[in-house]
Amino acid sequence: MSLPPISFEFFPPQTPEGAEKLTAARKRLAALKPEFFSCTFGAGGSTQDRTLDTIKLIHAEGHQAAPHLSCVGGTRENISALLKTYKEMGIKRIVALRGDMPSGMASIGEFHYANELVSFIRAQTGEHFHIEVAAYPEFHPQANSAREDMLNFKRKINAGANSAITQYFYNADAYFRFVDETRKLGVTAPIVPGIMPIVRYSQLARFSDTCGAEIPRWMRKTMEGYGDDVESVQAFGRDAVTQLCEKLIAGGAPALHFYTLNQANASIDILNRLGYRA
Ligand code: FAD
Repeated sequence: MSLPPISFEFFPPQTPEGAEKLTAARKRLAALKPEFFSCTFGAGGSTQDRTLDTIKLIHAEGHQAAPHLSCVGGTRENISALLKTYKEMGIKRIVALRGDMPSGMASIGEFHYANELVSFIRAQTGEHFHIEVAAYPEFHPQANSAREDMLNFKRKINAGANSAITQYFYNADAYFRFVDETRKLGVTAPIVPGIMPIVRYSQLARFSDTCGAEIPRWMRKTMEGYGDDVESVQAFGRDAVTQLCEKLIAGGAPALHFYTLNQANASIDILNRLGYRA
């Protein structure tokens, strides 16, 4: 089985200690030769400087760095300035998102949906950036229907996105079906599965409820049964996520994108089991 390219996602650390830990994690992950490292962007620009700092570090280390850019609460002027900075730094890839309105933020700003951001990036910078957008195999929680969500996804691709990274999921069939159905709608861009290793069950369960990702009942029940036994949760998680990745690779996934939560161990364990070596 040939192994597809991989990439890793981080969030911008909040403290100098967090930044140090992330540099150490990145060094270990870099040994697996990922295609790129990406860094998230707090909606409304709340992490703009920290995202930029993290991207500068990744870029300076000689890796391909992909900043996320979310448009909700943003202005054309502000986003244009950020695009200029990234372009001048030599950044070639951007993950373009709508984001979610932070509570307390009054105005949605000048962009309503990610397709508008993709069009804006293309209008401002031509073909300079490889643009990634988000895809939802189990559908976005605010979507009116599965079909509308897929049509909205297609709208982002038609606006000029090159490829997509999915929300995480633990049911491979949802991914394969999403790929098949969007192909029928005429989408040809690669759709890369987003992989969430399991480190802490309670945190994952909370997050999954808000972002609309399903943890299948058999997985929930098993992990709930382990209670505070973190080691058993992690051992189970490693097995389940490795098997998921095996199915995705066998089914032709074009790459794997790991949500690392700034930790290296879980992703490295899974990738080693799949046959990726430093
Ligand atoms: P959109 O594609 O705009 O879709 C949002 C909703 O609106 C969907 O329900 C869609 O069906 C609907 N819709 C889309 N276009 C239209 C239209 N033209 N008319 C009517 N309805 C429409 N969030 C962050 O804040 N920062 C990050 O760095 C970040 N990184 C992410 C990375 C990945 C790979 C993924 C999968 C998600 C990420 N998110 C991030 C979360 C994301 O911002 C949220 O899921 C957000 O709610 C939707 O963003 P989107 O870009 O998918 O939005």
